[in-house]
Amino acid sequence: MPKKNDHPFRKKWGQNFLTDTNLLNKIARTIDPKEGDQFLEIGPGGGALTERILPFVKDMVAIEIDPLLIEYLENQPIFQGLQVVHGDVLLQNIEDLPIHNPVRVIGNIPYNITSSIIFWLIEQLDYWNDAFIMMQKEVADRISANVNTKAYGRLTVVAGAYLDFDYCFTIKPDVFIPKPKVDSAIVRFTKKPTPLIDDDKYLRFNKIVRAAFSQRRKMLRNTLKSWDIPKEIQKEIGFNRRPETLSIEEFVSMV
Ligand code: SAM
Repeated sequence: MPKKNDHPFRKKWGQNFLTDTNLLNKIARTIDPKEGDQFLEIGPGGGALTERILPFVKDMVAIEIDPLLIEYLENQPIFQGLQVVHGDVLLQNIEDLPIHNPVRVIGNIPYNITSSIIFWLIEQLDYWNDAFIMMQKEVADRISANVNTKAYGRLTVVAGAYLDFDYCFTIKPDVFIPKPKVDSAIVRFTKKPTPLIDDDKYLRFNKIVRAAFSQRRKMLRNTLKSWDIPKEIQKEIGFNRRPETLSIEEFVSMV
């Protein structure tokens, strides 16, 4: 990676680079790259993880937003063969990238767009097989939260309708430069064999869940009054309930 004093770290792009060799090797072992794999990396930064995957796989593409890092990656001989795409990952379709799909996705991503990246993955389910995403531990806890807890919310419900996940391990702040203020976690996502919601209903589902959780203290009968939800479903669920008391399946039944 670029030397510590050579790179102006950009907060707005969530630039906390991994520097601990043991940890990077552990992450690479957990990802377990195979000869025939096609990888997409989100936010390669200085390539600390990239260099532990690229030599072992068939093809790899990396999407990076920072032009200084693009230049760095393109000038390092060890990254020869890596296809670097300059841009915002959230504006890309995996289908249009210069790589065959389905891909395996990895990313130590900017924490301020973690939820957006998870929704982005859900919108592109056909084009990837698994995804190892490093995120704030608190967000990993939200994804796996139980009903009736503070952490249970829109992300739990929408992700839970489409994705299965394994919590791989926790990562402490001192392995990054600069150090983030919070613990991180790496989570492996795979796709549910059968999603709980059909593709064509994704938008309606996501919007209903968002509306329900927009005011957590209010009853569904207030937050969802402008949504056309059949009366018998409202009765079955009990629309005097608050959103965090509903199971994922109960949210699914409204769509
Ligand atoms: N993967 C490197 C590592 O582990 O050391 C860097 C991780 S750093 C947390 C996040 C990286 O994502 C940075 O290189 C940053 O420039 C890049 N990035 C930020 N926003 C992005 C976006 N919207 N699309 C693509 N890359 C982005």
